[in-house]
Amino acid sequence: MRVALQELRDHLAPIVDLRAAAAVLGWDQETYMPRGAIEARAAQLGTLGRLAHELFVAEETAALLAAAERETEGMEYDSDAASLVRVTQRDLDKATKLPSDLVAELARASSMAQQAWQEARDNADFSLFRPHLERLLALSVQKAQNLGYEEHVYDALLDEYEPGMTKSEVESLFRRLKSDLVPLAEAITEADRDQHPFLSLNYDVQSQWDFGVDIMRDFGFDFERGRQDRSAHPFTTTFSINDVRVTTRVHGDFLPAGLFGSLHECGHALYEQGISADLERTPLADGASLGVHESQSRLWEILVGRSREFWTHYYGPLQARFPDQLGDVNQERFYSAINKVERTLIRVESDEVTYNLHIMLRFDLEIAMLEGRLDVADLPEAWNAKSEEYLGQVPPDDAQGVLQDIHWSLAAFGYFPTYALGNLLSVQLFERAKEELRDLEDQISRGQFGDLLTWLRERIHRHGRKLTANELLLRAGAGQLTAGPWVEHIRRKYADLLGVKL
Ligand code: ZN
Repeated sequence: MRVALQELRDHLAPIVDLRAAAAVLGWDQETYMPRGAIEARAAQLGTLGRLAHELFVAEETAALLAAAERETEGMEYDSDAASLVRVTQRDLDKATKLPSDLVAELARASSMAQQAWQEARDNADFSLFRPHLERLLALSVQKAQNLGYEEHVYDALLDEYEPGMTKSEVESLFRRLKSDLVPLAEAITEADRDQHPFLSLNYDVQSQWDFGVDIMRDFGFDFERGRQDRSAHPFTTTFSINDVRVTTRVHGDFLPAGLFGSLHECGHALYEQGISADLERTPLADGASLGVHESQSRLWEILVGRSREFWTHYYGPLQARFPDQLGDVNQERFYSAINKVERTLIRVESDEVTYNLHIMLRFDLEIAMLEGRLDVADLPEAWNAKSEEYLGQVPPDDAQGVLQDIHWSLAAFGYFPTYALGNLLSVQLFERAKEELRDLEDQISRGQFGDLLTWLRERIHRHGRKLTANELLLRAGAGQLTAGPWVEHIRRKYADLLGVKL
């Protein structure tokens, strides 16, 4: 009987509960809460956050951890007990390294910056946001100094979202990506000239919703342990392994938005629903990193949901639901339409091929700002130059350029690369799954996903936060994180789809 370990778990469980309660309030705020409740809700969230933080950084945590560490000495690295001690220690180190006035000042500055960013974007006027961004940048550098790093200030910030990953690792991945992807994206957009207006006809919203729910059920989303609701921006949040919420938005005049939004969030949710029940009410009951999380959503949304095999099974049912809109459109034409590649200015509207270009652009600028090579005042100009370099076009105004994303107003420097890492990871994992499940593509073309989900559960989901992205990849037999397989996937898919040599 391991006494200290049990005491540690008993101490951490209410902290996890408080965070889950905050997540419920946060979910409600984005779905059903009346506008008038905003101030009360902010206070409630503030209280829960403060209580959870105080309980966590209390001296008792460190003492219990030390005792539990002695008890777990010599245990397997990936045992639940050793992992709980290791990961909680890492969290505690971080939480105690940041002085509480810095945390409070970051929260305050970022809440003001969000308002300023909204206004700046509405007016396409960067100068309204500029002083806030300067402040957040300075505070973030301070935060990184407090957290500490070995090589680069960015490492400390990136580690918040992608534990163990460094700026130089991301840089070498992106260097390879850039040299391959910039010309490849140009060649693909050059070859992909067809327009597909049928995706923008009127599609009944309820029918779209029902179709998406049917697919989520087929993927393996457990509606007894989760639900889907509407929100302005799709997201997934978790209150417990047995209560995972996804949201989506459905457009009456653009079919792909709601459908692929649902499949994307479903991928995130399958991960959360698949975490081992043994980790419930511990800090390990969460995704390994944002990159790993995004690999799951992109795998189901793109590698499954935008594949030809998938639509071999689902196009008939979709046509039957929307005979007026799709009756004359054959499956191959539909497949081309949902995989249309265009170099657009807006990241969230971009396709599978050009998405990573948007990320690389932001990564370059974050590094330049953090290294002091780029003044915030010169950011819009630098953005436009990078946009020309990566996407071959310059935004007509800052709203469609440097002001398009919320992340910098949240001081979330180091977040963007995780989207690209998720894309790379998704292909490496999917290729490995195909090797092990030899007829995976046939299964998908029959609408069968059980083997794939079981594989992902075994290799990724059940581990929660016990292992890092690279540890998960290596143990899954998918090799080191690298850009090559993703580039090859794009080359193969679009050479076939467009009938050209790439
Ligand atoms: Zn996502």
